[in-house]
Amino acid sequence: MTDIKSMFIEELKALMAELGEKPFRAKQIYSWLHEHLVTGYGEMENIPKALKKKLADYPVTALEMVDEQISRIDGTRKYLFRLSDGNVIESVLMRYKHGNSVCISSQVGCKMGCRFCASTIGGWTRNLLASEMLDQIYRIQAITGERVSNVVVMGTGEPLDNYDNLLRFIRILTGEGGLNISQRNLTVSTCGLVPRIYDLAEEKLQMTLALSLHAPNDEKRRELMPIAQRYSMDEVLEACRNYFEKTGRRITFEYSLVAGVNDGDEDAKELVGRIHDLNCHVNLIPVNPIKERSYVRSTRQAVENFKIKLEKCGINVTIRREMGSDIDGACGQLRKSYMEKTESEK
Ligand code: SAH
Repeated sequence: MTDIKSMFIEELKALMAELGEKPFRAKQIYSWLHEHLVTGYGEMENIPKALKKKLADYPVTALEMVDEQISRIDGTRKYLFRLSDGNVIESVLMRYKHGNSVCISSQVGCKMGCRFCASTIGGWTRNLLASEMLDQIYRIQAITGERVSNVVVMGTGEPLDNYDNLLRFIRILTGEGGLNISQRNLTVSTCGLVPRIYDLAEEKLQMTLALSLHAPNDEKRRELMPIAQRYSMDEVLEACRNYFEKTGRRITFEYSLVAGVNDGDEDAKELVGRIHDLNCHVNLIPVNPIKERSYVRSTRQAVENFKIKLEKCGINVTIRREMGSDIDGACGQLRKSYMEKTESEK
């Protein structure tokens, strides 16, 4: 591996040994990359020129900001970043009373094909490296000068479809010598890749697993999410149960409400039947309509009603607050409109 920002400190030490350098250089370089958030070797003041020369084959990942949009309503900021190979990705900064939260992408595009999601329409291009996931947070912190305390992997891509890089990202983000973000302040959202959920449970991390459920039964889930053809709801829920047993972390179920599709009284009742014995929390997301699809957002009344139905059965429910509604339609749309624009200029 030559991607220096994706290396663990032990790997950097091994690299220093290989280059005939003292071990303490590893710590210095690691600190420049993950604490001081530098974008290149030029900024590493205490690193000798000779070593910098030796590191020429180990480029420093640094995302380039292409666009920044700031919401007038709530200060939410959306970023478009260009990767070294020219691909662009989208990240979001949300400001809450309890701190700043960044939503990052885990892949360029997505292959999961969820029907209501904008990120999957152009298909999948490639996985992001750990450094490219980290750098979304690093650049946002550097640009705004504000500390990021929470991270959600809920942007473009299926994080568990990029499992090894995701784990590397988590270890560096939450480990010592970097931003040292608490694992409890990290959420990873998945459409439900069952074998990977079992793998993740074995890592014994203290992060939150968010599972995109979106339906009360297999039939409806299959209409919304192709992945549901591969794994049944029973299998997914069993994997979630195991995740809780192994980690002690309560599962978050995400449920995007689509008018007339999954937001009725019967749906709420059926959902309760499936999840009432699980230690969980349900996050309701009124669907963000995207122009390529005809899905309609549930009315405010229907959302409230759905919430009450679940709560009456003792289930914890929150409704996702809409942030930055003046700067994009739905998740993944900033990147999409950028790509459409550049495409038409060619
Ligand atoms: N691949 C991961 C992360 C995706 S985005 C996953 O599937 O969980 C995070 C959440 O937003 C998921 O629950 C996803 O299903 C949901 N989502 C995507 N597009 C949406 C839209 N247009 N409206 C509402 N929720 C959406």
